[in-house]
Amino acid sequence: MSSEQTFIAIKPDGVQRGLVGPIVSRFESRGFKLAAIKLISPPRELLEKHYADLADKPFFPGLVTYMLSGPIVAMVWEGRDAVKTGRTILGATNPLASAPGTIRGDYAIDVGRNVCHGSDSVENAKKEIALWFKEGEVINYKHSQFDWIYEKA
Ligand code: GDP
Ligand code: MG
Repeated sequence: MSSEQTFIAIKPDGVQRGLVGPIVSRFESRGFKLAAIKLISPPRELLEKHYADLADKPFFPGLVTYMLSGPIVAMVWEGRDAVKTGRTILGATNPLASAPGTIRGDYAIDVGRNVCHGSDSVENAKKEIALWFKEGEVINYKHSQFDWIYEKA
């Protein structure tokens, strides 16, 4: 099957607001497989690399400060169309434009406090997973629910 991996992070506000469980739960109950998870206080250099394409934006310094303001839950979720569907589960970048039922649409208001991150393409997902996780931290295993979630492998 065309399985994909995506990098999903719960930002410092999501962790501090007690949203780790609800956010993990949305990916789990949708049927995606957890392939990696860790609580991490990343160094500034990692965040600057992660958001390198936004370095020229006026909000970039504030974004890095926000991302350094507390621990982050870094995760890899796997399954069919995981990258695009992950973004749909997260909602729009600006929470006020996010539909109810999405994470941002249910839990956030300001774009600079939008509680979660998700890769925006398969190519970027690969880069982000390699940036945030070491060899061996992303686990390959059979999801016991697989045959109940997918019609065909
Ligand atoms: P994402 O992929 O939906 O997270 O959005 P982007 O990659 O465009 O931006 C990365 C993150 O930067 C967003 O999730 C926001 O936290 C933040 N951000 C984006 N645009 C703005 C903005 O206009 N103002 C502020 N303060 N933060 C922003
Ligand atoms: Mg982005």
